[in-house]
Amino acid sequence: MGAVLELAEKYWKGEVTTYERHPFAGLEMLEEVAERTVFYNAFSGVTAFDTDDGLVIVDTGTFFNQEIVFQAIREWSKARLNTAIFTHGHVDHVFGVPLYANEAKERGWARPRVVAHEAVPPRFDRYILTAGYNGVINQRQFAQHVQWPTSYTYPDVTYRDSMSLTVGGLRFELNHARGETDDHTWVWVPARRVLCTGDLIIWAVPNGGNPQKVQRYCGDWAAALRRMAGLNAKVLCPGHGIVVVGEERVRQILTDTAELLESLYEQALRLMNEGATLDAVIHSVKSPAHLAKRPYLQPVYDESQYIVRNIWRLYGGWYDGNPAHVKPAPEAEQATEIARLAGGVSALVERARKLAQEGNLRLACHVIEWAYAVAPNDRAVHEARAEVYGRRADTETALMTMNIYRAAERESREKCEVPKVS
Ligand SMILES: [Zn+2]
Repeated sequence: MGAVLELAEKYWKGEVTTYERHPFAGLEMLEEVAERTVFYNAFSGVTAFDTDDGLVIVDTGTFFNQEIVFQAIREWSKARLNTAIFTHGHVDHVFGVPLYANEAKERGWARPRVVAHEAVPPRFDRYILTAGYNGVINQRQFAQHVQWPTSYTYPDVTYRDSMSLTVGGLRFELNHARGETDDHTWVWVPARRVLCTGDLIIWAVPNGGNPQKVQRYCGDWAAALRRMAGLNAKVLCPGHGIVVVGEERVRQILTDTAELLESLYEQALRLMNEGATLDAVIHSVKSPAHLAKRPYLQPVYDESQYIVRNIWRLYGGWYDGNPAHVKPAPEAEQATEIARLAGGVSALVERARKLAQEGNLRLACHVIEWAYAVAPNDRAVHEARAEVYGRRADTETALMTMNIYRAAERESREKCEVPKVS
């Protein structure tokens, strides 16, 4: 057993948790997981199938690691890339094809074909249109510099509902499902009993909420996972995290993830149908308790509450049910009124610090934001704001939540140049 399967075993048994080793922290290594089939474990997963007519690769790498993936694949096999399948158009899955295309040109091979769902090209168009916005939000989400790509390999072949491809005698069944994205494809290779889920499985609470990104579809997502669970796949190659080996384990991760999504979906929908406000919905819906300890369903990236917000967004308007919010006063004006009632900005700062020290960080954030809205250049406000968000980030587990708070902390530290207290 190599390092990839060894890590898979440890993750499954909980000997290594996703808190200790984040599912995005890849080994940058590949290993054979089925006959003539390898899974490359990195920030995002790459699965390569050797056929009698070249390779078929499901997801080809991230914009920042495409060369490393290419080298690893080439160490494993020298066969030409026949077809690349993109499970979806996120930038951590769709890079690297030009490296194979250049190689094909040099050697006189046919150019590799790229296959994806028909919603992938409009996604790439949108990414070019909103490159600045995507740079900003991804820099905040991942807490590192992101140069958002503006050049993409568009698919040569697209499909709508499902599609079957046979390459070198091996059949690949492509199925569309809206889930994390509107353009998702999951791939089933019956002869090898390998299932490539894309980001419909990521070894964490599904990325169905994401505060900074476009709509997700958790009802369709759960239905797709149920279909996959009926296939009796032996190997599951996920979009992020580690490979899952063994029929029972594969079925379990699929059905547990489906159950989580179904539960959130049903609870949120019921409350919406009863006329609940958004505030009531996000604070009432709970994840099923028996799934809380599953090693592959921890909130280390996204969170259930954000998924609930996306269910609201899918079926509801932007009105949250609070009439004051339909045509609100500007936040600075609201905050000025609150500061006046509280006895000034310093009273808000003091209260925010006290709430933070008592551990009521949710309220502390509101109070310090009111102070910040009134006095955006006040040093005392920034000192307190950096402290509040620093503490808040320390208590969070989801990468996207933590990094939003870290960004606020950083912003205030920079404004008052306060060194970080550990
Ligand atoms: Zn991804």
